[in-house]
Amino acid sequence: MKPKYVIAGNWKLNKGPSETSVFVRDLSDQLTHEVKNSIDIIVAPPFTSLPFAKASGIYIGAQDVHWEDKGAFTGEVSAPMLKELGVQYCIVGHSERRLYFNETDRMINLKTCTLMRNGIKPIVCVGERLEERKAGLMNNVVRFQLSAALFDVEIKRPDDLVIAYEPVWAIGTGDVATPQQAEDMHEVIRQYLEKHFGINTGSEVRILYGGSVNTDNIAGLIEKDEINGALIGGVSLDLAKFISIIKTVTEKER
Ligand code: PEP
Repeated sequence: MKPKYVIAGNWKLNKGPSETSVFVRDLSDQLTHEVKNSIDIIVAPPFTSLPFAKASGIYIGAQDVHWEDKGAFTGEVSAPMLKELGVQYCIVGHSERRLYFNETDRMINLKTCTLMRNGIKPIVCVGERLEERKAGLMNNVVRFQLSAALFDVEIKRPDDLVIAYEPVWAIGTGDVATPQQAEDMHEVIRQYLEKHFGINTGSEVRILYGGSVNTDNIAGLIEKDEINGALIGGVSLDLAKFISIIKTVTEKER
């Protein structure tokens, strides 16, 4: 069965509570039930805006989580806390967290495990840096990141886990991967998932592309068989553009 498309907005450090509530209300109002039912739409605002992100037909995503449920970890937020707020998805291992907050593969694995234990779907980000691509190492880099992030992970249902292929050189740069470059990497990820989680599960885990997705390039990307949606940063902050991307993907679904 072809998995349901996902369009997820990663808002990063943007939009406080009031902007968030207006955005999600307008987003939900401007989409028909048919559109909202046909694909999974996620917005991932900052922690303090999460309680204000509830709107019919829109899933709430967090951008990070701590791996412990509670304890002496100043400044952190746990999976049970997110769950209590109604969070259904959580981004883990985003390249900005790896780069600016020294997040390691081990931490990403612990976070993935705690999310799955608590019934929140991790969106695990993987992707190579430009120098790794230039050296032809991208397949190995991504396979290594997957093996580390998914160590000891059990997938009960394929839609309990989402992978986002986000080449670091494409994030926030305007340098989108070509549909074929993205598809090639999604095939590497698909093969990894099928090998380690079995063909039935591995073939249905959603794999998103992320990195400078916009209203002009989404149609070409979504044409590719292994691209099951997109994780969108900058452009997801603009309601009209986010809706336009959702509609392009919904057309493909029909
Ligand atoms: C991201 O941060 O996950 C991302 C894909 O950003 P952008 O769309 O702005 O490149």
